[in-house]
Amino acid sequence: MTHPQKIIDGKAFAENLRKKIAAEVSALKSKSAKKPGLAVILVGHDPASEVYVRNKSKQTVEVGMENFEYKMPESVSEKELIAKINELNNNTKVHGILVQLPLPKHISESAVIDAIAPAKDVDGFHAVNRGHLTAGIDSLVPCTPLGCLMMIKDRLGDDISGKNAVVIGKSNIVGKPMAQLLLNEGCTVTVCHSKTKDIKDFTTKADILVVAVGRPNMVKRDWVKQGACVIDVGINRLETGKLTGDVDYNDCFETSAYITPVPGGVGPMTIACLLANTLKAFKRIERVN
Ligand code: NAP
Repeated sequence: MTHPQKIIDGKAFAENLRKKIAAEVSALKSKSAKKPGLAVILVGHDPASEVYVRNKSKQTVEVGMENFEYKMPESVSEKELIAKINELNNNTKVHGILVQLPLPKHISESAVIDAIAPAKDVDGFHAVNRGHLTAGIDSLVPCTPLGCLMMIKDRLGDDISGKNAVVIGKSNIVGKPMAQLLLNEGCTVTVCHSKTKDIKDFTTKADILVVAVGRPNMVKRDWVKQGACVIDVGINRLETGKLTGDVDYNDCFETSAYITPVPGGVGPMTIACLLANTLKAFKRIERVN
């Protein structure tokens, strides 16, 4: 029989997290005249980004935060975009700033990210926050890996030290910060990527397996250690239109002790963690607890 907690329901988990955030935002009203504010800048008309920004705005308002949305044309210059960021850095109603990626090719993503005040960098992409994460200093951490860590701890408990963790993928937004978070928790971490030989040799030793590659159903049953916690970050749209992860869910189901589905696993946690980061930034900036 399937363990009732085997499937990690990211939708329910995210809903629960948003409820906790909403309760905290409400409680903060008695301590501060201000409320947390999140500003999102969207450049151009990428349909996926537009959907993401719409969902984010809706959820920001639902948890009682103030939502600021700025839409800029595809033709906006890097200078104009950075001027808007500087304005938001100085806006005392704004505690979190997110620039929706990807940006048009004529704009340097790193220049834009580095223009955001580190204290308001709720995506956790600024070099200062990355450095803090590497040094094990409490900081604003990228939302997707943060959500993955919360789900792992929910199932395995707060103390995951000593576990073997394998992360497949070494992108700056998912793989690397995920590996760093697990390392900071005392896991023995291996990072696999496109140049890794015989990935299966590593994954079959993993108590925790996080996959963030972008290749549909890449991870099969014989890659997974019996009883592993499997977190699938991948979002792939098949020709049929169906969404699928990087892990072959049905094939790996029996072998895993815990597993995230796609959709409905990691995905919903990303926005919830963005709100958690905005609340954290607010408390730090306004010095309230
Ligand atoms: P990315 O920047 O394209 O990075 C992919 C990583 O996978 C790279 O490190 C790459 O290795 C590695 N890789 C590629 N082919 C491989 C192979 N055959 N074997 C092993 N490793 C391989 O992607 P990303 O931004 O990290 O995103 C990964 C996936 O997660 C995508 O499906 C994306 O849509 C999804 N995602 C989901 C969320 C969410 O909220 N759920 C958020 C972000 C991303 P190299 O570095 O060696 O090239």
